[in-house]
Amino acid sequence: MSSENTETGGSLADRITKPEEAAQPAPTTESPEGSLVEDGASKKSQGSGLQETDYDVEVKLSDLQADPNNPLFSVKSFEDLGLDPRILKGLAAMKFRKPSKVQERALPLLMHNPPKNFIGQSQSGTGKTAAFVLNVLSRIDLSTEEMCHTPQAIILAPTRELARQIGSVVNDMGVFLEGLELQISVPVEIAQRPKRVTAAVVVGTPGTVGEQIKRRVLNPTAVRVLVLDEADNMLEGQGLPDQCLRVKNMLPKTVQVVLFSATFPTEVRLYAEKFALNANQISLRQEELTVEGIKQLFMDCNSEEEKYNNLVQLYGLLTVGSSIIFVGTRAAAAEIEKRMTAEGHTVASLTGAIEGAQRDAVIDAFRSGQAKVLITTNVLARGIDVSTVSLVVNYDVPVVFDPRSRHREPDYQTYLHRIGRTGRFGRIGVAITFVANREEWGWLNDISNHFACHIDRLDTSDWDEVERMIKKTIKNTRAQARFAVEQ
Ligand code: ADP
Ligand code: MG
Repeated sequence: MSSENTETGGSLADRITKPEEAAQPAPTTESPEGSLVEDGASKKSQGSGLQETDYDVEVKLSDLQADPNNPLFSVKSFEDLGLDPRILKGLAAMKFRKPSKVQERALPLLMHNPPKNFIGQSQSGTGKTAAFVLNVLSRIDLSTEEMCHTPQAIILAPTRELARQIGSVVNDMGVFLEGLELQISVPVEIAQRPKRVTAAVVVGTPGTVGEQIKRRVLNPTAVRVLVLDEADNMLEGQGLPDQCLRVKNMLPKTVQVVLFSATFPTEVRLYAEKFALNANQISLRQEELTVEGIKQLFMDCNSEEEKYNNLVQLYGLLTVGSSIIFVGTRAAAAEIEKRMTAEGHTVASLTGAIEGAQRDAVIDAFRSGQAKVLITTNVLARGIDVSTVSLVVNYDVPVVFDPRSRHREPDYQTYLHRIGRTGRFGRIGVAITFVANREEWGWLNDISNHFACHIDRLDTSDWDEVERMIKKTIKNTRAQARFAVEQ
C-alpha cells in the first residue's frame, strides 16, 4: 500500500484520482432517460488507496465540543441561552449537555424580540433541528386551554419521514411543557374527513398543510413562526416552492420565517432571502461543508453488474452497524432489493413508490435496528437522523439534468446530504461511491473539487483489506476523524 496523497496535501485536482480502468471508454449502462422516476433529486495521483487509520483513539463528544474548530464547539451552556426551565429539563432528559456551534449562534438571533427572520446553514448532523425546535417551543403560548389548541407554529419538511422525525424531536424537547400538543400533517391514503387541527405546533409537508389551511381545518391567524427545514430543497425547482409560498401567504404578515439547511446554492439563497426578508443569516463556505468524521471513498466497478457484485461483497460490512444504499431510481431500488432478497440477504427498501403507512413501517424498523440495510432513493437523502448508520453507499453518483445544457451534471447538494446520513453529531462514518464508467468518475471528480474534499479509492483487488479498513473505521463510533497520513 502506498500513496502520495495525504489528507491535507495535494492540489484540488489530486483529490480524487482517476483509476486506470476509468480511462478506457466504458459503455454507458444507464437506462434511457424518461423511463426513470427519481425521488427528491435537486432540481435542476493514483487514488490514495487504502490508508491506515493511525489514530483509533476514542474521542469523546465533550472533547469535540471543546475544540473551537469543530462545528460542535460552543462556549455557552443551554442555561446561558435563556431557555424556559421546562425546556432545559427536556434537553437534559435527551442527554444534550452542551449546544453545538449552530445552536449557540442561532438561538440568540432566533429568540430575539421583536422576532427577525432567519436563514441558517450548518453541516449535516450538527443539530439544526434542535435550534429551530427550541425557538418554536420558546415562542408558543400555552398559558390557556384555548391557546394550547390554537396553531402557533408551523414546521415544513420535504418528506413525511422527516416531518415525523422532527415531530418526535418536538415531543421529546417539549415533554415537560404542559398542554403541548403536536399535529403531524402528512398525506394519508384513505380520504378521511378533514379533522380540525387543535395543536399548537404543526409539523408537516407543505402540500398537506396548505390543504388544511385552505379547507379551513387549520386556523392560521395565530401562527407566529414558520420554519422550513431543508430550505434550499423546499425553495428550488417546481412544486415545493409554490406550496411553501402558498402556506406562507396564508399566514399573518408578522410571522417569523426561519430557514435551515446544510446547503444553500447561490441561486436558491437569493430566493431564500426574498422568502425570508431581512433575515439574520449564518452561512458557511463551500469548503467548510464536508464533515470531518465522514470518510469518503470510491470503488471502481467495470460494469453495472460489478456494482451489484461489490454491494453483495460488502453485505457483511453493511450489517456491522446500519447502512443506507442510495440508488438513482425507484426501479433500481426495487430490482436490487428483489435480487438481494432472493439470494438470501435481509434488506429493506423505501421509495416514493410505496404507500405512506408502509413507508412508516419501513423507516420505523430501520430506526429500531430491526432492519439494518436500507435501499432507498433521494427521498431519504435529506434530514434523516439514525445515529447507528455507519455506512452509506452511493450505488450511483447523484446527478441532475440541467435543462440549459441538456446534460446531466453532478448533484452536489444531494451528494453531501446523502453522505451526511452517517457521521451524525461527531460520530464516525464511511461513505462509498460506486463508479462504473468515465462519466461517473468525472462527476465524482467534480464533486470532490466542488467541496475541496478527498475521496479515496478503495482497492477491490484485496477484499480482506477493504473489510479490515472499513470495519476499523466504523467500529469507532466517535473517534477522531483523522485518517492516516501515509509514511
Ligand atoms: P442536522 O439537522 O443539523 O443534520 P440534527 O438536528 O438531525 O442535525 O441532529 C443530529 C443529531 O445530533 C441528532 O441525533 C440529535 O439528537 C443530536 N444532537 C443535536 N444537538 C445536540 C446536542 N446539543 N447535544 C447532543 N446531541 C445533540
Ligand atoms: Mg436536519
